[in-house]
Amino acid sequence: MTDKFAALRPATRLVHGGTLRTPFGETSEALFLTQGFIYETAEAAEARFKGEDPGFIYARFSNPTVRMFEERMALLEGAEDARATASGMAAVTAAMMGQVKAGDHVVAAKALFGSCRYVVEDLLPRFGVDCTLVDGDDLDAWRSAMRPTTKTLFLESPTNPTLDVYDIAAVAEIAHAGGATLVVDNVFATPMLQSPLQLGADCVIYSATKHIDGQGRCLGGVILGSRDFIDKNVHNLLRQTGPALSPFNAWVLLKGLETLSIRVAAQNAAAARVADALAEMPGIARVLYPGRADHPQHALAMRQMKGGSTLIAFEVAGGKAGAFRFANALGIVGISNNLGDAKSLVTHPATTTHQRLSREVREGLGISEGMLRLSVGLEDVEDLIDDLRQAAEAAAGGAPLAKAAE
Ligand SMILES: *Cc1c(COP(=O)(O)O)cnc(C)c1O
Repeated sequence: MTDKFAALRPATRLVHGGTLRTPFGETSEALFLTQGFIYETAEAAEARFKGEDPGFIYARFSNPTVRMFEERMALLEGAEDARATASGMAAVTAAMMGQVKAGDHVVAAKALFGSCRYVVEDLLPRFGVDCTLVDGDDLDAWRSAMRPTTKTLFLESPTNPTLDVYDIAAVAEIAHAGGATLVVDNVFATPMLQSPLQLGADCVIYSATKHIDGQGRCLGGVILGSRDFIDKNVHNLLRQTGPALSPFNAWVLLKGLETLSIRVAAQNAAAARVADALAEMPGIARVLYPGRADHPQHALAMRQMKGGSTLIAFEVAGGKAGAFRFANALGIVGISNNLGDAKSLVTHPATTTHQRLSREVREGLGISEGMLRLSVGLEDVEDLIDDLRQAAEAAAGGAPLAKAAE
């Protein structure tokens, strides 16, 4: 990245990085809603297709607004290069498929976003790529899963929905010792709270649909890594197969990036307050929040993250019925499977995002019938706490704390 903003701090990069300004000198990033580009001469077209002239060719390959988004993301993440995709899942699929061929092997943590788990567990094996799933916090399990054919390791941390935290630097070391790469899905941490490339990962992917948009408008994804990683594994795959980000969505996401640092800081601070408040509410059996001292991997979280997360998982007494009573009683917090939004959202993973998994597999992952996942938004934190408290009281049937906790 030769961008002059590379030396400046993240919030500055988020406002200015990667901007391509037209001769009109517009303040806001231009929305180039164009599929193609006109060449001055036939010779110019030939030169561009030969790669002798770096200009744009076709929006499936790239587009100035999409390129601005990629450059800003690369600057933010400290990556040499980035490629935008139509969704987070397009980013995961390309980053994984791009690295393997029949006969290869991948290792992934069991606790993955449902669709990510489909890619490694169902899709890759259909093309002759073996997959081993391990407990992400068991470093010996990662080590013993390695084979001579292992090409890449994949994890998300904190995980969805239980907010387990895995040691990215240690898993990267295991990958590299075996000649493999590590891909990290950094959606839950956001680029503001965790930098996997700095911890040794080779590739980071985001669903930009989440905090990067942050206002519930559009889908998007991005793959970040070294220039070599991008060129070798994903550049051609994306160009020839076509999961391109729409310029309009790239523009929305660019505007989202301008406010990412203040939104995540506010949501993270509010989540820390909400997690502590939830832990004291009636009928809340357990709160899982990496920023709390009672989180199983709290020390690791504080070492590799800059905050406790904008998400909280918690367990409502009374199983599915208790969790449903709690969710249905909420007045401000919406019921939705999305996350990272300005609006606080709650989801019941066992019946939505993780309903595809059997009950046994879910229980093995710690996803109980009473678990809710809360994405903390930008509302006044006192209003949120009041809303959650009245829902907890309603779910516990208005019973006093001691009785409801039974
Ligand atoms: C949402 C999400 C994805 C998929 O992103 P889409 O934009 O919905 O395709 C992948 N990983 C994690 C952790 C997510 O939360």
